[in-house]
Amino acid sequence: MSEFRQDPLSRRWVIVGSDRAARPNEFVELPVARQPIPCPFCAGNEHETPEEVRRYVLPGASGWQVRVVPNKYPAVDVQQACPGCLPLGSSLGSPVPGFGRHEVIIESPRHLASFSELSDAETELVFRAYRDRLLALKSEGRYAYVQIFKNAGPAAGASLEHIHSQLLALPAVPEVVAQELASSAEHFAKSKKSLVQSIIENEIAAGERIVAQTGNCVAFCPFASRFPYEVWIAPAAHLARFELASDSLLAEVAQLVSQVIRRIESATSGGPYNYFLHTQPFTGAKDEHYHWHLEILPRVTKVAGFEWSTGCFINPCPPEAAAAQLRSA
Ligand SMILES: [Zn+2]
Ligand SMILES: [Zn+2]
Repeated sequence: MSEFRQDPLSRRWVIVGSDRAARPNEFVELPVARQPIPCPFCAGNEHETPEEVRRYVLPGASGWQVRVVPNKYPAVDVQQACPGCLPLGSSLGSPVPGFGRHEVIIESPRHLASFSELSDAETELVFRAYRDRLLALKSEGRYAYVQIFKNAGPAAGASLEHIHSQLLALPAVPEVVAQELASSAEHFAKSKKSLVQSIIENEIAAGERIVAQTGNCVAFCPFASRFPYEVWIAPAAHLARFELASDSLLAEVAQLVSQVIRRIESATSGGPYNYFLHTQPFTGAKDEHYHWHLEILPRVTKVAGFEWSTGCFINPCPPEAAAAQLRSA
């Protein structure tokens, strides 16, 4: 039996719990062969990437652990004329220069294929790099938003196997974030509370979609999950901007993300996933009712004609069942 569910933050609808998981699939996914080494992200091949923006070294180690470099094939370019912060789409049919920054965060000097192979200290450096890049790009004063994301596995859009994530600094706030901000503003006006905080309080009270918790952070399968094993991670207390996270909160986030990814990999046999950070845009300084969060989307079902045409996803696995499975994974 299926049901329609709406996500209160994005206002997106999903169809949850259909029998479609049982349908036959003639298209067998073949395992993807590992890419041959040499790899431009491995230690020793630093000359193959553009000059690094930042590097991180673990205490007592001699070489780098995390490197931030400009993307060699950027989607947006800092050399383009800066249009100033703007709402995209305000000028019908007139292009806006593709101004922005596109960077890669190389998460290990070793050729690892899975984020869950990093130690807690190594994972923490990745999240520290996210925070530092947000602070540095914010201080430049010419971007509206920075989108940090990870594509893990070719089916999730990764072109290189070596673990990395990316960021795009943009002159405009993306539509998806703008919708979440609008829902959050509406909820805040009514309840004087951030919408994500209210969602988390409900999830903790209900318990059935909670995957894991630390002292200050919660991981849960959202009520209107788009994909089987979709998990959101957020601080329980209201915090609009990821870049204002303390060192101790970052350590908790890193530990929770890596634990959850390990559980997802176990439930999906190491399947592909995307994760991304949603945080308060640099513009609109007074809109502090937003609440940063990380969304992890395992790509075990396909996005096809219905999803593209309606924006509504079909998820055969109810998040209550997914959370129970992830808790025991
Ligand atoms: Zn490599
Ligand atoms: Zn979000």
